[in-house]
Amino acid sequence: MPWDYAPPLADMRFVIERVLAAPASWARCAPFAELDLETVDAVLQEAGRFAAGVLLPINAGGDAMGCVRDAAGHVRTPPGFREAYRAFVDGGWPALPCSPDWGGQGLPLLVDAATREMFVACNHGWVMYPDLLHGAYETIKAHASDDLKARYLQDVATGRTLAAMALTEPQAGSDLGLLRTRAEPQPDGSLRVHGSKIFISGGEHDLTEQIVHLVLCRLPDAPPGSKGISLALVPRRLPDGTRNAMHCDGLEHKMGIHGSATCQMRYEGATGWLVGEPHRGLAAMFLMMNSARLHVGLQGLGHQEVATQNALRYASERAQGRALAGGGGPGAGAGPDAIAHHPAVRHTLLRLQALVEGQRVIAYRAALALDEAAHHADAGARAQAAALAALMTPVVKAFCTHQGFHGASAALQVWGGYGYVREYGVEQSLRDARIAMIYEGTNEIQAIDLLQRKVLADGGAALRAWLVEARAEARRCADAGLADFAAALEAECDAAAHATAAVAATAGADREAPLRVADDYLMGLSHTMLAWAWAASARAALGVPDRRWAEAKTARMRYGLQWLLPQAAVHWQRVSAAGSVLPHL
Ligand SMILES: Cc1cc2nc3c(=O)[nH]c(=O)nc-3n(C[C@H](O)[C@H](O)[C@H](O)COP(=O)(O)OP(=O)(O)OC[C@H]3O[C@@H](n4cnc5c(N)ncnc54)[C@H](O)[C@@H]3O)c2cc1C
Repeated sequence: MPWDYAPPLADMRFVIERVLAAPASWARCAPFAELDLETVDAVLQEAGRFAAGVLLPINAGGDAMGCVRDAAGHVRTPPGFREAYRAFVDGGWPALPCSPDWGGQGLPLLVDAATREMFVACNHGWVMYPDLLHGAYETIKAHASDDLKARYLQDVATGRTLAAMALTEPQAGSDLGLLRTRAEPQPDGSLRVHGSKIFISGGEHDLTEQIVHLVLCRLPDAPPGSKGISLALVPRRLPDGTRNAMHCDGLEHKMGIHGSATCQMRYEGATGWLVGEPHRGLAAMFLMMNSARLHVGLQGLGHQEVATQNALRYASERAQGRALAGGGGPGAGAGPDAIAHHPAVRHTLLRLQALVEGQRVIAYRAALALDEAAHHADAGARAQAAALAALMTPVVKAFCTHQGFHGASAALQVWGGYGYVREYGVEQSLRDARIAMIYEGTNEIQAIDLLQRKVLADGGAALRAWLVEARAEARRCADAGLADFAAALEAECDAAAHATAAVAATAGADREAPLRVADDYLMGLSHTMLAWAWAASARAALGVPDRRWAEAKTARMRYGLQWLLPQAAVHWQRVSAAGSVLPHL
């Protein structure tokens, strides 16, 4: 049975229209005021066709062949990648959420998020090339000089130029304060950049003629640590068409995403230009962090969706044993039942479905918050949306990617031994999904970001604002007759508030306390957000005319409530015990 993908358009539409009521938000955002759901449907349908029809067929081949670097340092992507990229640019996909002022289509990040979920589900390795475009676009648009914008921004927005983010060095991973790449100012205002970077996705390839590298570096008068980091734009081709002094010294041989060229880069006096203020490079890059981290979270979501779909199909066809000893189970015949009937496998499949659908609501809510933060007519609403996006981003990045890998692993289990061998595709998904827990800030760093910067630093204000939204949903559920959802969501909100108060109380006297429990805090809050997503989905399903679809949806959401939500208590209990000392190794 070949690895396959059916774009989950019905669920996407359900989340966008009914759960999040996005059109009401768009009406208050000037650039989207005219947007209607029919247009959104048409965009998503076309994106789904591109994902399943163009990206999926080159996914396994890209994994098997990988990228090739020749002696001169040129990198060739796997067969079909160039053609797919050309079709992607011709279709206008890179420019979807960019401003029409720069050649973009001006659609919401929420719509873009749904397209990205589909693209990555079908080919994570390929998606790595265009995935950095939007972050580069935002960074250049907000911080580069008019001259740099005129030269590069439209090409980045439309995908004619690809981008690379060059942060990591051998001694500087999570701690970018340790980086050593130097930039020397020149009399003509340019910089000469010297240094080595590792793990640079799309640092070199054959998809576009131009690649702009956004390189973190130090100016000669830089203070040590993260306060002395600047950002330079370093193009592969200089304005006169000659090649810049930058080389790909090697490609990483890695566990997954083989189609993505992960490059070791050397800058040997490469010409670049400062983006933003001197020594304020990290601040300039942070602008793109929310959307880049959202994109990585969507990678986890995409992997879960495609793994779940294929596991469901396989489980309905693979027959082994009887679901009830002695027969009498759901399988009518005398022979073995499809494994989908076995309660153990049913648990796995229901868990996968409830989690992927819940995470879709959470990830899309974060995308909607980013749109509102940028475009809402009311300044107060913009500020509130920005705080919500900041709060949700580490949850989306870390929880969805955690589940992306563990969900693919659970799905693999459904195939038994056939999952462990290559031909069915799920082992590629498992390998590809793993990196998303590491890059764009490891999940441990996300957890610390969530607890320290997004929750404790503002005295819990952003969290309280979100809990108000969640409790309002609980009341709507109660009014709609969904008493179990209402009670569970209320209880979850209480648990989150109590655990937050407990860790805040401990943090004053014991600065290590939040660091000890940050991972559990992120998992706990992810479950609170899932409780909200399941409740909001069950309530929204009441208005769906297709009652069979709606009842099946509600049953999956209730499964999440009954079988998955109890896990939250374990995490909150650990968070509340933040004062417990962790032994030294
Ligand atoms: C396939 C791939 C693609 C990549 N693409 C890019 C790219 O395009 N551009 C780029 O610049 N980089 C890229 N990276 C690098 C990636 O962002 C880093 O690997 C990541 O930031 C982690 O850094 P590190 O590997 O040095 O691990 P380390 O920072 O050494 O971390 C090792 C472990 O320690 C933990 N840890 C570290 N510090 C802390 C802390 N303060 N608190 C708690 N735990 C901590 C981490 O969570 C991790 O578990 C890529 C990496 C890979 C493998």
